[in-house]
Amino acid sequence: MTTKKILDKTLKEAISFLDKLDTISPNIPFNKTTNQELTEEGLGFKDTLKLFKSQYVPYISGTAGPRYFGYVVGGATPASIAGDWLTSVYDQVSPASQVASVHEKNTVSLLLDFLKLPKSFTGTLVSGATVSNMLNLAIARQWYGLELGLDIAKNGIYGLKKMNILSANAHSSSYKGLSILGIGREALIEVKTQPNSECTDIIDLEEKLKTLNGEPAIVLSSAGTVNTTAFDDFKAIEKLKSKYNFWHHIDGAFGGLASCTDDYSHLVDGWELADSITIDAHKWMNIPYDSAFQFTKRIDLQQQVFQNGNAPYIKDLGDFSLINLTPQASRRWRSLPIWFSLLTYGKKGYKDFIQKNCIQAKVLGDFIKKSEDFELLAEVNLNTVCFKVSDIKKITTQDFLESLNKTGEVFLTPTSYKNNYAIRCAICNWNTTDADIELLIKEMKNIIL
Ligand SMILES: *Cc1c(COP(=O)(O)O)cnc(C)c1O
Repeated sequence: MTTKKILDKTLKEAISFLDKLDTISPNIPFNKTTNQELTEEGLGFKDTLKLFKSQYVPYISGTAGPRYFGYVVGGATPASIAGDWLTSVYDQVSPASQVASVHEKNTVSLLLDFLKLPKSFTGTLVSGATVSNMLNLAIARQWYGLELGLDIAKNGIYGLKKMNILSANAHSSSYKGLSILGIGREALIEVKTQPNSECTDIIDLEEKLKTLNGEPAIVLSSAGTVNTTAFDDFKAIEKLKSKYNFWHHIDGAFGGLASCTDDYSHLVDGWELADSITIDAHKWMNIPYDSAFQFTKRIDLQQQVFQNGNAPYIKDLGDFSLINLTPQASRRWRSLPIWFSLLTYGKKGYKDFIQKNCIQAKVLGDFIKKSEDFELLAEVNLNTVCFKVSDIKKITTQDFLESLNKTGEVFLTPTSYKNNYAIRCAICNWNTTDADIELLIKEMKNIIL
């Protein structure tokens, strides 16, 4: 089959899926392994697609659709899908091709502008916020070592005693980062949160910094925690730098997008002062997986950590040498889907859908607040709603959630918040309509009766 025929068929399949995405159940179980044998001759594309359509396509959940409210997932804008397709078509790799590297640099610049972050940050693209957090932690670790006269990139962590990592609300992925980097999960000293919130208690943070007696520290804060979308007081944290010596990393995987809005941008006030920031592209920016940003003000330290170094055949592209800035050597043209999406919809297009999701969260939050059947566990301050079934009801929150998900109309995920089994509804799809939220509320009412 010619390339054109293969791609025509693929386009047809893609359109047929996307056209019915809003009717596909957001949660279709699938655990069927097949004993597919690889044939000598190959099936040809037509039969391969046919096989795929019969064996897998019916089980593809509508997680990219408008009523998937679990975790923080998001869909993919049409323009980002186009960019993603073209990424494969061009199949560029740095440093063989300079255009992908330069384009990535330009795209990082676009995002800084979009999120109103200063150009003192540089950034790269990685596969997700987990890797972004890890990469930023690796830069922070290098800074930490140098504060003590140790070059960890060169000599490892052997000269260090247990590092001082402080956080009140680190995402689970940061613990993974600490593990990968040889710092250790247990190195994290838990700072208190404010009462009834997931925000860092600044007084407790200061007390813990004080006990370090001038030793360096890494402080991890949050621009949007996963349970309640809590935002730390970044200005207050930064103010502590006048007295204490620490690296400040902000995980803004989805919450960082608040910065592009009118009504919620105050939530990130002061984040521009941080040393490093994580933002996912594949969540609320609605870019296809795998895609996230990593920002730092210390590209020099990043180069020390990620220097690919001793391969004389690799061309050094200077500023654009992504091989010397990220964990990967060969990597896809990851900026293309983001660039297509940002330029197609512009600042306003993005802002409108982000704000729409926030209003939708508010509508759901208001319904829960007014209802005697449910209890809102945190004020809705962005795009997620954290709630439980009221204690006066016979049905448990867990059973309620199971029934709700069983409808196949919506999908929400559980969490644990302040010792409660709770439900989290994250609204982060460009395609979610007000009618989708009405449908969710209708299903909730049906089950709680
Ligand atoms: C989702 C999330 C992560 C992990 O992101 P991945 O892109 O799934 O690796 C980290 N931090 C926060 C706050 C998140 O919401």
